Amino acid sequence: MEELTLFKSNGEPGLDAVSPSEGSRASFVLLRLLSDALDRAATDIHVESEGPGVKVRYRVDGFLRPVADYDLELGRRLISCVKVICDMDITKKSRFQDGSFLGKRGDEEVDFRVSVIQEVGGDKMVVRILQRKMHEGVIESLGLNDDLIATMRGFTRRSQGTLIVAGPTGVGKTTTLYALLQEVDRTRRNVVSIEDPVEYHLPLMTQIHVNPKVGMSFAAALRSVLRQDPNILMIGEIRDAETAEIALQSALTGHLILTTTHAKDAIGAIFRLSELNIPPYQLVTTVNLILAQRLARKLCERCKKPLPVKKKYFATLGFPAPATDTVYRAGGCPECDDTGYRGRVGVFELLQMNDPLRDAILRKAPESELQALQASGPYPRLVHDAMKKVEQGVLSMEEVSRVLV
Ligand SMILES: [Zn+2]
Repeated sequence: MEELTLFKSNGEPGLDAVSPSEGSRASFVLLRLLSDALDRAATDIHVESEGPGVKVRYRVDGFLRPVADYDLELGRRLISCVKVICDMDITKKSRFQDGSFLGKRGDEEVDFRVSVIQEVGGDKMVVRILQRKMHEGVIESLGLNDDLIATMRGFTRRSQGTLIVAGPTGVGKTTTLYALLQEVDRTRRNVVSIEDPVEYHLPLMTQIHVNPKVGMSFAAALRSVLRQDPNILMIGEIRDAETAEIALQSALTGHLILTTTHAKDAIGAIFRLSELNIPPYQLVTTVNLILAQRLARKLCERCKKPLPVKKKYFATLGFPAPATDTVYRAGGCPECDDTGYRGRVGVFELLQMNDPLRDAILRKAPESELQALQASGPYPRLVHDAMKKVEQGVLSMEEVSRVLV
């Protein structure tokens, strides 16, 4: 395995900046913690004081796992080591500090985003890990069924319209958008993304990092970008009325819009846009597809345990019974750190705009009516897609209940 090397965000060597008094042990421990986090595909590292020492945890597949305990002195040095690499002020005791640094290991490039907060027991540090390598996720790897893939692919070939990916925070909405952008012929179409932050780099595409601190909000960025003759716009998230208005307006004037919004499901996204003052007539003429999504932990293939299906059990949970006789539950083995789960997969539902739905939205029909229209459509809802994955032995019922309820 190649060694990890750290750099400041300006490209200068990172660990050289740490003074000898901070101790080489802290830099050694830091490098080991970061490498180990990369090996385990962790997305965050948490360092905080706990009792007489400092506790380190990794977030893997969405859950925190304790990985190490250090004494207070080493913990303090570890955090100040990171502060130095981030060019944070180590003398001033400000309550909140943000920074970042870079890591290189072989051809792997990683962005580490650091946040330090002063709490009662000392500093608490969270390091977010963003792989800088090109996004390689293909649409087939997300967990979409073939019908959904075909519909989404068809959408990417259109010249105008809007696709919205809906879901709570941290369910992989952006990853889905990147996978769709992989499908686009980016040599022949001008593709621009506006993101907060830019998570992956895609070749042949302009990626803009939103920075509200310097007046570059989603809406401001969108206005500038529209003057640069874009064909396809990826907008990281619609979270304010102004962005919603400009985005949907540009979908009417020859732009293909791919975006996300915070909503529990596809119908929820319609109500979310209404809350952002998008009038119904604009919504029904500009929005073509709404994909709602969750992210569920896949059962570890090495240790999952069969469970005979008891129909009554599913009824009490409020889920349809699976069509199979056996489902699976989590076990535990060294491969999965005894969690029973390994890797994650998306659970999806798709809502396609059609005449009955347009009519209902224009009439401001209640949620229940829209849901009934969705149920009569060709695509599975979140619960059905999840149950399909339970039947296939990919998901456990515990996990489905956790992500859907
Ligand atoms: Zn296992």
